[in-house]
Amino acid sequence: MTTTRFAPSPTGHIHVGNLRTALLNFLIARKAGGQFILRIDDTDPERSREEYVDAIKEDLEWLGLHWDRVERQSERLDRYAEAADTLRGMGRFYEAFETPTELDLKRKKQLNMGRPPVYDRAALSMTGDEREALRAERGPGVWRFKLDQERIEWDDGILGPVSIDAASVSDPVLIRGDGQVLYTLASVVDDMEMGVTDVVRGSDHVTNTATQIQIIEALGGTPPRFAHHSLLTGPQGESLSKRLGTLSLRDLRERGVHPMALLSLLARLGSSDPVELRTDMETLVDGFDITRFGAAPTKFDENDLFPMTARILQETPFEEVRQTIAAIGVPDGLAARFWAVTRDNITTLNDLEAWWIMFRDGAEPAIAPEDADFVAHAMRLLPEGPYDDATWSEWTAAVRDATGRKGRPLFMPLRKALTGQERGPEMSQVLPLMQRIRAAD
Ligand code: GLU
Repeated sequence: MTTTRFAPSPTGHIHVGNLRTALLNFLIARKAGGQFILRIDDTDPERSREEYVDAIKEDLEWLGLHWDRVERQSERLDRYAEAADTLRGMGRFYEAFETPTELDLKRKKQLNMGRPPVYDRAALSMTGDEREALRAERGPGVWRFKLDQERIEWDDGILGPVSIDAASVSDPVLIRGDGQVLYTLASVVDDMEMGVTDVVRGSDHVTNTATQIQIIEALGGTPPRFAHHSLLTGPQGESLSKRLGTLSLRDLRERGVHPMALLSLLARLGSSDPVELRTDMETLVDGFDITRFGAAPTKFDENDLFPMTARILQETPFEEVRQTIAAIGVPDGLAARFWAVTRDNITTLNDLEAWWIMFRDGAEPAIAPEDADFVAHAMRLLPEGPYDDATWSEWTAAVRDATGRKGRPLFMPLRKALTGQERGPEMSQVLPLMQRIRAAD
């Protein structure tokens, strides 16, 4: 069965870059009728926080990216230890004692000589006595996986054929000196045992993939299909890395972005299919095709999310926003009408409150000096509220008869006097919502 996973480390809030990974994996699973696993990569006890695990789940739920099950790496440490033993038994795992400073020095020397900074495997030529002496002096070493120095090749779902010379890659450290298992090993063990068939992740993982393919094969498994998507950049192609903090899913949610706007954009950005606004998950899944994605950096402009959100809201039925509208204090009896009047005039649901305040408290009137007498006259003709659908046309007819004004010179000063604005929803719809009219003060 097609099985994918989204594997965040709970060390912070997830952002649009993470969402791209989550969404592509989710869509592959749903399109194939397979399984989507939420895997929490929490092998680092110092940096992982429970509050982030909760926040990640909340963000995915907000988007409707429901997972079939949750797995936690911190609960699977014995499985990783077993895999480490297997690799040790095969002679593919070795202990190394270099300090970070020593490694740094080695790298600098290699670079000076124009060589790639690859770990020189000095630890492999140590005698047992030397090893014991170092262990006594420095404590346990790190454990490195011994790569086979051949080309590692795979047919990438996005990049196409990839070939990496293992000799240009350092033997990866899979276990730290303090015994902490690192992601590279944990992920491989999980992907194998959980039957993961497809892994989509950022192109910053390409070298990891090369080493993971060898580890999987050493452990007797078959590598999943890998696909590496390009990294998101800003609208001018600039790096997003520093800005990702402000592009967290919770920030976007607070700014009123509609989940389907975000999903519609990210399901197509970087693919040769055009961005199309989808309002339900089924259509989004149907229209998804990973083979259409390309390797070029993908430009992301958060501003695109707002017109998309506005378009979704224009089509949103009252029932879906009933609670939001009640929460800002609109009385039940006015709520449906309030929505009908405002939904074409907002960008996000966050704009609703300002509209309600205007209807409830009245707007600061905008009256041009040359219209002052006319408006004052009209206001004397305005009946007491509450108003209904007919009030506007009855009132403006009476004002026309009394003043002789017609068309725009009749309507515009009245709109501006009542709402403070030149544009907005139909006045016949606005008037019944107005609880107070300040022009009449
Ligand atoms: N926890 C890893 C990360 O967030 C997962 C990478 C992967 O998909 O294998 O980078």
